[in-house]
Amino acid sequence: MSASAVEPERRKLSLTAKVAIGMIAGLAVGVAFNVLGNQWISDNVVNGFLDMVGTAFLNALKLLVVPLVIFSLITGVTGIGDVRMLGRVGGKALGLYLMTTALAISVAIGIAQLIGPGRGFDMTGVDTSGIETEEAPSFWEVISGIIPTNPIEAFAEGEMLQIIFYSILVGVAALMLGERSEGFVRACGFMNELMMKIVSIVMAVAPYGVFALIARVFAEEGIDLFKPVMAYVVTLVGSLLFHLFVTLMVLYWALTRLNIRTFMRKIRAAQVFAFSTASSNATIPITLRAVTQRMGAGNSVASFTVPFGATINMDGTAIMQGVATVFLANVYGVDLGIAGYLTVIAMAVLASIGTAGVPGVGMVMLTMVLTQVGLPIEGVAIILGVDRLMDMIRTAVNITGDAAVTCIVAKSENKLDRDVYDDPDAGLRGDDDIEFDPEAEEDLAHTLEGARR
Ligand code: ASP
Repeated sequence: MSASAVEPERRKLSLTAKVAIGMIAGLAVGVAFNVLGNQWISDNVVNGFLDMVGTAFLNALKLLVVPLVIFSLITGVTGIGDVRMLGRVGGKALGLYLMTTALAISVAIGIAQLIGPGRGFDMTGVDTSGIETEEAPSFWEVISGIIPTNPIEAFAEGEMLQIIFYSILVGVAALMLGERSEGFVRACGFMNELMMKIVSIVMAVAPYGVFALIARVFAEEGIDLFKPVMAYVVTLVGSLLFHLFVTLMVLYWALTRLNIRTFMRKIRAAQVFAFSTASSNATIPITLRAVTQRMGAGNSVASFTVPFGATINMDGTAIMQGVATVFLANVYGVDLGIAGYLTVIAMAVLASIGTAGVPGVGMVMLTMVLTQVGLPIEGVAIILGVDRLMDMIRTAVNITGDAAVTCIVAKSENKLDRDVYDDPDAGLRGDDDIEFDPEAEEDLAHTLEGARR
C-alpha cells in the first residue's frame, strides 16, 4: 500500500486519541525498561533523552500558566458587566471547594476504616532517614499573604492566589475607568486569545511529551515498591475512584442536571495531562480550555474558578491524607478516635488552601497532618516509594473537582452555553488549527509595512 493511501486514515486520529496512545505507549515502554534494568538505558535514555523531552514539555506548559491566568482573568472580570457577580462566584466556588474536599477526606477515612490497611505491617527494613516536615502557614497568614507587595515578584514566583488577587484588582479598576479602558481591555482580550493559541501549539506536541513523562516514571518505579504497601495502594486508588465517579458525579448531577458522561468525556484530556505532569498548576491551561471551549463555561467564571481551584481545591490529595493517616495509625497501633480524625479532616482542608498544586506537595501536607495528631512522621517513609504514581492519580482527581465546580458555578450563574456542552465536537477543531494561514500572514505583513511607512 502506498504512503498516500494510508495518509487520510492517519489524519482522522483526534489529538485526544494521540495523547492516549502516547500515554499507553509510555507506560509499556517504561515498564519494559524497568524490567530490563539496563544501566546504559537508564543513564542515557530514561534520565537523558526521555527526561529532556518530558522536562521541555512540562516547561512549555508551565510557561503558559501565569500569562494565561492574568489575561483571562482581566478579560473575564471586565467582561462580566456586573461586579456583584464576582463576589457571588467567589463565594460559591470557595464553599463548593471546601465542601468537596471535606467530603472527599471524610469518605476516604470511612473506606479506609472499613478495609483497615496497615494492620500487622512490619516496620523493620524501612529507611526512615531524611523525612522532613514543614510548618503549615496559619489560616490568617494565608489570607494576608493573598495581597502581594510586589506583583512582578508574584508573577515570577507563580504565587497563584496573589496573581488572582492582583488580576481581579486590575480588572475591577479597568471597569471603574469605563470607556478609557477600552484599548487596554481589548489588548488583554487579544492576549488571552493569543495564549490560547499557544495552548493549541503545546497540545500538538503533547503525545510525545506525555509519552516521555510517563515512560520515565514507569521506568523508575519498580513493581517491587508496591508489594509491601499493596493494601494502602488499593484502598487509596479505590477511594479516589469512588470520589471521582460517585461523590463528585452525584453532586455534579444534583446541582446541574447536566449529562455526566459528556462531562467525563470532555475532561479526559485534562485528566491525562494532570496524570502525566502530577501538577494541577501546570494543567491550568488545559483545564481552562476544556471547561470553556469544550463544555461552554463562560470565561468570566472559569478564568477565576480554575486557577483558584488548582490552588485551593485538592480532593485527591485530601483523600490520600485520610487513607495514609488510617494506614499509619494501624501500622503503629494507635487509635486516633473521632476527635483525631476530625482534626485530620480540618487540617487537610486548611492545608490545601495555602499550598500550590505542584508535584509531591501532598506528602509535605501529610507530614503536617501527622504531626498534628501525634503520629510519627517517619511513617511517611513507608509510602514514599509509591507516592509518585499516587500523586499522578490524585492530581487527575484534583483537576476533575476544579472542572466540576466550575461548571456547577457557571450553570448557576447562567454562564454555561448548553449548545457547546452538548456538542460532542465543541472546541475540537482548534486542535488541528495550528497551521499558518498565508492570507492572514500577508494581511499582517501589509499592516506592519503601512505602520512603518
Ligand atoms: N500534585 C498534586 C496537585 O498538583 C498535589 C499533591 O497531591 O501533591 O494537585
